[in-house]
This record gives sequence, structure tokens and C-alpha cells, in this order.
Amino acid sequence: MVLDKFKDIMDKYANLIVKVGINIQKGQPLVINAPVEGAEFVRLLAKHAYNLGAKEVHVNWNDGELTRMKYDYAPMEVFENFPKWYADGLEDYAKKGAGFISISAQDPYLLKGVDPKKIAANNKSSSIALKEYYKYTMNDLNAWCVMSIPTKAWAKRVFPDVSEDEAVEKLWDAIFKATRMYEEDPVKAWEEHLGNIEKRVNFLNEKSFKKLYYKSSNGTDLTVELPEGHIWGGGGGKNVKGVFFVANMPTEEVFTLPHKYGVNGVVYNTKPLNYGGNLIDKFSLTFKDGKVVDFEAEEGYDVLKDLLNMDEGAKRLGEVALVPYDSPISQSNIIFYNTLFDENASCHFALGKAYPTNLKGGPEMNEEELDKAGVNDSLTHVDFMVGDKDLSIVGETRDGERIQIFENGNWAL
Ligand code: ZN
Ligand code: ZN
Repeated sequence: MVLDKFKDIMDKYANLIVKVGINIQKGQPLVINAPVEGAEFVRLLAKHAYNLGAKEVHVNWNDGELTRMKYDYAPMEVFENFPKWYADGLEDYAKKGAGFISISAQDPYLLKGVDPKKIAANNKSSSIALKEYYKYTMNDLNAWCVMSIPTKAWAKRVFPDVSEDEAVEKLWDAIFKATRMYEEDPVKAWEEHLGNIEKRVNFLNEKSFKKLYYKSSNGTDLTVELPEGHIWGGGGGKNVKGVFFVANMPTEEVFTLPHKYGVNGVVYNTKPLNYGGNLIDKFSLTFKDGKVVDFEAEEGYDVLKDLLNMDEGAKRLGEVALVPYDSPISQSNIIFYNTLFDENASCHFALGKAYPTNLKGGPEMNEEELDKAGVNDSLTHVDFMVGDKDLSIVGETRDGERIQIFENGNWAL
């Protein structure tokens, strides 16, 4: 049985998530969003959380098959009206200082063939209803951590040629590799890894580049302006209470925000994008003064179109992230069809909302001030992958000095 084989390491993994990911504090509530299939692992998370002093562990369960049934049978108005009690519940826990663990384990094709209008309506109504709750996590008021465990449906998409049990086992193995769980002391390995990320972050913040020039043989030729006062982040960070937490496990990225009016040129994706249960692939976006003015897609054209048309901000970039091509996830050569992993295998951008924490004074600015500073706003934030083995990124400082940041897909620093 698969789970027996991984019992010890699963236990250590649960400890890592609660201790390093959330860094749970005495008396703190913990909310876990989890698939019902993961109950065994969720119990391990709860056990470690209580052992470390958590006050209460609350679980919001989900199930792929039930979600699919809802999309197939429920009428449109259900998707246009996100339940208020659910949003209120999350907000209530956020106000009490809860930590939030989200287990990302969706079948990438879960919503294939579903009416895209229902998906768009749900994405929109949930973004609006959860806006207050997102303020707590997007501004790092609370500790939060997105992580993964396999589900059968997801594992079979990643490893279609083996049995379901074997696929689940292989996906556990891949997740453990990506999260450094095979190191002798994973907690220590994470401290070292986070230290390395910090060094790059400090260098980029010292240089405070004005522009980044992206070039790749696939046709990518893009200039990205960075706003004055932008802040690079990555690895872990402190929430407003000064508690260090790691929002994504695994994480390899170093990221900041682009100037919403300063992106020009064309960019091609290099890994498929799983958006709301649909895949978008082999696409390109052409930017002028920060806005997408043209786009193409061989797969998922209509889904991409809906995404770009969600609101004004969805046509602009809200994140610039650097990930070496030789990161452990990239080296595994596995396409996870899950952004948490695939984005950490590749340099990426995000369409939509920028994190105000990536700008000096950003969290205190009102909407007008954020716009003036070049910080994009939108109901959505969707990462897409652009890193390639020959990607070159050159930075230009405000004095006009040019420094090679990435060469052949990897850090040149
Ligand atoms: Zn990112
Ligand atoms: Zn992102």
C-alpha cells in the first residue's frame, strides 16, 4: 500500500508545512482547505499543528467529483452568486489571526467541456466575495501556505501510462523531491535554500533595475519596466506580526512587480497553463505600454480570451518572477499541470493583480496612488510560464549600466 511506504516521510512533510510553511504560533487558529481524498494527510497536519500549540484546526473540504457535478447540473445563477457565509467564515478566521493552508491537488482537466461562462462567472463572483479575505493574505497580514499532495485524478494526468496506485506513488515521490523531503534534515535544508534565495533578492534590491530585457529563441522579445521603489521578494517573509512564514512550498522563485504601463514586445509561454480546470497552451501575448493588444493560442483560445477580458487589469502584468532552468522541479522534467510546481520550474509572469507588498509603501496606498506608481489591480492573478533553456535576461540600472541576470535559462550572477 502506497501510504504505508511513505508514512514516516508524510509525517515529516506535515511537520515541515506547519512549522516552516505556516510557523504556527501558540493559540493561533489554523484553517486548512483540503480534498477529502487527503484526509489521512490532513490529520497529520492537524496533529502537528496542535502539538505546536494551535488553538483550533478547521478544515474546509472539497471534492473534484462534486465540483464537476455542480458545474454540470447547477444553473448559472449559482455561479454568479458566491455564498456569502463562506466568504464571511474565512474573513472571520482571518480577523482572528488564523494561518491558512491550501492543498492544491486539482485534476487539471476537471472542468474540461464545462460551459466557460459558468467558469468565468464563478471566478468573478468568488474574486469579488473573497476580496476582503484576500486582503489579509495578499498583504501578508496572516501567515498562509499553498502546498500539495497527490489525488488519484491529478496523479493519473501527470503519469497516464501507469496504474492509479503507481501514479499516486510517483507523484508523492516527485512532490517529496521538489520539497527537499529526501534531505537528511528537511527543516535545515529549507533554511539553507531560503538563505540562497535571500542573497539573490538582496542583490536585485540593491541594483533596483529600471528595465529587464527578455530574449529567447522561441520568439520572446520583451522589455519589462520595473517601477521606482519596487521590492524583490522570495522564499519566506514576515507577516505584519513579524512571524516568518513560507507562502509556497515548494518555492524557487524570486519576484517583484512590473510597471503596469511599461511592458512592450511579445512573450511566448513555455509550459501549459492550467486555468480554472482548463488548459491554455502554445500561446503568445503582445504588449504595448503594458496592455495586451494581441494574443494567439493553439489550445484554450476562448478560455484565454475570457481571462483577458475579465477586467481592465487582466490585460496587464502583475508579477515578474525569476526561476533557474536547473531548479529541482525543472530537472525532474515532469509537467505537473499545477502552477505551484510548474511556476517553480520556470521564469514566469502573472496577468492581473500585483502584490502591493512588492512596492515601498504599497500596502498603505489607495487605489489611485497605486495606479500612479504603476501597480496593477485586477480581480484575478494568473501565473504563466515563459522560462526556457536559452532565456537571456539583461537588467538596466537607472544609471544605464547593463548587467546580465539570466543566461541560458539560469542565474548569471
Ligand atoms: Zn510567482
Ligand atoms: Zn503569482
